[in-house]
Amino acid sequence: MPDSSRVLVLNSGSSSLKFALLDPHSGEQYLSGIGEALGSSEPLLSWRSPGQKHSRQLDGGAAHAVVIELLVRELLEETSLAQGALIAVGHRVVHGGERFARSALIDQQVIDTIAECADLAPLHNPPGLLGIHAAINAFPELPQVAVFDTAFHQTLPRHAYLYALPYSLYRDQRIRRYGMHGSSHRFVSERAADLLGKPLQETNLISAHLGNGASLTAVKNGESVDTSMGLTPLEGLVMGTRCGDVDAGLLMHLGDALGFSLEKIGCLLNRESGLLGISELSNDCRELERAAAEGHDGARLALEIFCYRLAKYIAAYTVPLQRIDALVFTGGIGENSAFVRQAVLCQLQHLGYQLDNHRNQSTRFGAEGRISKDGTAAALVIPTNEEWIIARDAASLVERGD
Ligand code: AMP
Repeated sequence: MPDSSRVLVLNSGSSSLKFALLDPHSGEQYLSGIGEALGSSEPLLSWRSPGQKHSRQLDGGAAHAVVIELLVRELLEETSLAQGALIAVGHRVVHGGERFARSALIDQQVIDTIAECADLAPLHNPPGLLGIHAAINAFPELPQVAVFDTAFHQTLPRHAYLYALPYSLYRDQRIRRYGMHGSSHRFVSERAADLLGKPLQETNLISAHLGNGASLTAVKNGESVDTSMGLTPLEGLVMGTRCGDVDAGLLMHLGDALGFSLEKIGCLLNRESGLLGISELSNDCRELERAAAEGHDGARLALEIFCYRLAKYIAAYTVPLQRIDALVFTGGIGENSAFVRQAVLCQLQHLGYQLDNHRNQSTRFGAEGRISKDGTAAALVIPTNEEWIIARDAASLVERGD
């Protein structure tokens, strides 16, 4: 493979398309951007290349194909990167069901299987396919690779992925826990093993991806053995606007006693709960920290519940792991919130975690490092880089040609 190889990474949502052009070996990004409000009357494209930021209003109704078309016609040229250096397009695909335990070169069969998995992720897989089709049209000669959010968790044992529901629901409908954020958990696991100086296959970790969506994964000998998200991203930790774990009986109560429709319940649990719902202020951790410092009780309570649930989940993952080489914080909150990291580690002192305040406060945006005292249980901050892992997978599949 030429040294100058590049991979275009696409992350396609229902009304957005994120893209990044990077070197799969070094992770260096040459171009990244996002098309937002796609399909609306005022779609917007913004992008950055080293040292430069741009944005452009697109014609009303412009969708994914228009963004990719602009990428091909203008942006790739502007960065003076000959298209010849492009070796593949890597696509983030949310749900690969039980069919994909690793990334796959896209052919018609893979496209059909992603479409079949769409009933498990009706909000995510269809837009992923939009991006795939648009990219195939734009780059018909390039290999396209699908990298699945769920794939890393396909190593979960049965007792971790099955719900205690009638078994037929799993057998007939594939209802089970799948987990998400797999590329992020995988990326930080590999980095953590490097930092610890251990082979990944001998490393046990708890990876906390804390962004607007949040999930925790127990990694044993380099493989995911439990994770907090389930059939959908709603299960597990408290998130920006999602509630995480609730009593399933709540759904009947909301429906029967309060007359809520299923649609209303879905909206309540996914978009109106979590940090936003509790604080009645914001889903943004930064804003909540500011408000809590000024005495806003809802903000304080939201952060308290968020950190308590997280600490409780971390402690629970000592069961599958027994030995933990490191606890890793990543995602917008995990990488940046010294407050959350402190509040969580304070509740885990019985597991040997002792925060080094100076290290915790001085870990800067984008930097990785240890935040617990030397000689105590290791807690690390590792910035995630899902684009890089997608680019790497794409490059290695193209290299191997399978
Ligand atoms: P993500 O979904 O990974 O982009 O993460 C978004 C979350 O990270 C939001 O809740 C932000 O408030 C939070 N975040 C970003 N920067 C900071 C910061 N400096 N301090 C606290 N939270 C932050």
